[in-house]
Amino acid sequence: MLTMYKMHHPKPGIDRLYVKMEEGGKGLVQIEAAYKAEIINIAEYLNTNYKKDQFVNIVKSQESTQPNMNSIITTAAKSTEELRQPNEKSDAIQDGIQHTKARLGESLKKKWKNKVMHGQYIRNTDRQLISEEDTFLWLSKGDLKAETESELVAAQDQTLQTKCYATNILNTVTDSKCRLYQQFDETIDHIISACSILAKERYIKRHDRVCAQLHFNICKDTAVQLDKKLWNEHVPKSVETSQGGKVTILWNQLPPTTNPTLLSVIMKREHVC
Ligand SMILES: [Zn+2]
Repeated sequence: MLTMYKMHHPKPGIDRLYVKMEEGGKGLVQIEAAYKAEIINIAEYLNTNYKKDQFVNIVKSQESTQPNMNSIITTAAKSTEELRQPNEKSDAIQDGIQHTKARLGESLKKKWKNKVMHGQYIRNTDRQLISEEDTFLWLSKGDLKAETESELVAAQDQTLQTKCYATNILNTVTDSKCRLYQQFDETIDHIISACSILAKERYIKRHDRVCAQLHFNICKDTAVQLDKKLWNEHVPKSVETSQGGKVTILWNQLPPTTNPTLLSVIMKREHVC
């Protein structure tokens, strides 16, 4: 259904679908995980209340006569065992449905991370240097069209039809070299940031669009009057001055002081950055 409505690329892995949006997934509820969480919750209820409530006691007694495959308590114990960390004590996991759901979420994330190709992006995200929350804000905010979002996810999952993918995974072609300049393999990373042909024009355009948004935000923050209300329509002028003349913003030119930078903000009375 998601693929039919272009919300999920035909090829990416499915594990990422069930990881929380703040952690890079799509935040869907996996039926199997929901089932396990409920079974563990019911078993916990039976085990803790059978002495206090005679009806719960009857249900628990009935449970004990069921064959293993039909028994909630046996199924729950099996699922609990699967979720336990290798060095964890046997009674350490009995602490509520929220904790069980968190464990199930962690296990799905681990499954995604362990996928050789689909997990490459999440494995390479260095949480020491990069904030996980900010990295995946674009997913949790939901500002993008579903189709655009699924294309970006497919790129991160390495499943767009590059020549390298077609050669090594689909086996539909035999040449994996970049179609623009046949020197390096045409991978997603190569297209995004390492192609010498794209670097001459496309990368500069992309760089300038990012800086244009930065310029737009700085103009707004410093009370510069702008012609356009949306950043994607904003075309930076070479010099902008805020109302009252306190701040001057230069675009794509050398600042009159030291290092050349693409964008410089000069505050007349205070600080230069
Ligand atoms: Zn190339």
